[in-house]
Amino acid sequence: MVGDTNRKILTFFMSFFNRLITFTLPALPKWIAKPFAKPYVAGETAEEALEHIKAINDRGFSATIDILGEQITDEDEARNITKQYCKLYNQISQQSLNCNLSIKPTHVGLRISLDEAIANITNILNQAKENKNFLRLDMENSPYTDHTFEIYARCKQNYEHVGVVIQSYLRRSQEDIERLASGNFNARICKGIYQESETIAFQDRKKIKDNFITLAKVMASKGAFAGFATHDQNLIDQLLDWINSENLSSDSFEFQVLYGVPMTGRLEALQDQGFKVRVYVPFGPDWFNYSVRRLRENPDIAGYVIKNMFKNE
Ligand SMILES: Cc1cc2nc3c(=O)[nH]c(=O)nc-3n(C[C@H](O)[C@H](O)[C@H](O)COP(=O)(O)OP(=O)(O)OC[C@H]3O[C@@H](n4cnc5c(N)ncnc54)[C@H](O)[C@@H]3O)c2cc1C
Repeated sequence: MVGDTNRKILTFFMSFFNRLITFTLPALPKWIAKPFAKPYVAGETAEEALEHIKAINDRGFSATIDILGEQITDEDEARNITKQYCKLYNQISQQSLNCNLSIKPTHVGLRISLDEAIANITNILNQAKENKNFLRLDMENSPYTDHTFEIYARCKQNYEHVGVVIQSYLRRSQEDIERLASGNFNARICKGIYQESETIAFQDRKKIKDNFITLAKVMASKGAFAGFATHDQNLIDQLLDWINSENLSSDSFEFQVLYGVPMTGRLEALQDQGFKVRVYVPFGPDWFNYSVRRLRENPDIAGYVIKNMFKNE
């Protein structure tokens, strides 16, 4: 009983503290904010990010690279970002890196129109094809879910090397897999980072986690390839129990983590067990605005960042 009360008080103060950081950070000069964002952002230029990816590959992990940014409303800007993504495929090939691309549809025009996004994503997919590489469409907040799946389905008609993301907090996700899982379906499963309403998304952490496992099982039953994107050690344990009990082929899944989140040797342990690990590497000059937007959407991240400062990788 006393333990319960203490936990509630602690949760209240953590939540207050996270919100305080979230609302004061935008007012701070960038040089104060930078140390908080730095561990999670692989530099401001592609050259810097690709250096980090080389080091990640040298540790035996693959990578996926993302230019930070989203919610573009200007056509020229969306097309300029598209060009930068196309160039990245060439740079990855030239440097023989084990790395694909992850993009946010609103970064390449989805907020402008569905047609603009499809045109730009088609350009990126052509470049991916030329370089025998792969493109992942990240999943943003719920106003974009249907359109992102529509883009995926339309691209999939002409391109093999494209995948999408399924969020386990969304109540609809199992149906989405049932509907989309055909012809080498490749999806990252993650919990979901945005604040969504109770009507469309589970709020309870255990339900989100249980649904993650359910979705992983549905993916396996469809013969699909899954990227298990989580840092939650207990969830990784549960996934491993299931993977081992089913003797699931290590060719049908990989573990994925965000650059800079301390995993205290877990990634090496997964690799030692014969499992693939991919690191998601974001970079770009827009790191400050992007970090502030993400903090506003999910104040829990402020708590993670502080907690991670006291952990070793
Ligand atoms: C490779 C990858 C790709 C992703 N792509 C998407 C996507 O397309 N759409 C989407 O909605 N969400 C995406 N996410 C975010 C995901 O949905 C979760 O919000 C996030 O991973 C936190 O959930 P968790 O499973 O790690 O568990 P949690 O229980 O939330 O976190 C476990 C621990 O991990 C650490 N941690 C988690 N997240 C962060 C962070 N951001 N910064 C610092 N430390 C952190 C903390 O120490 C935390 O205690 C992605 C995550 C990963 C790993």
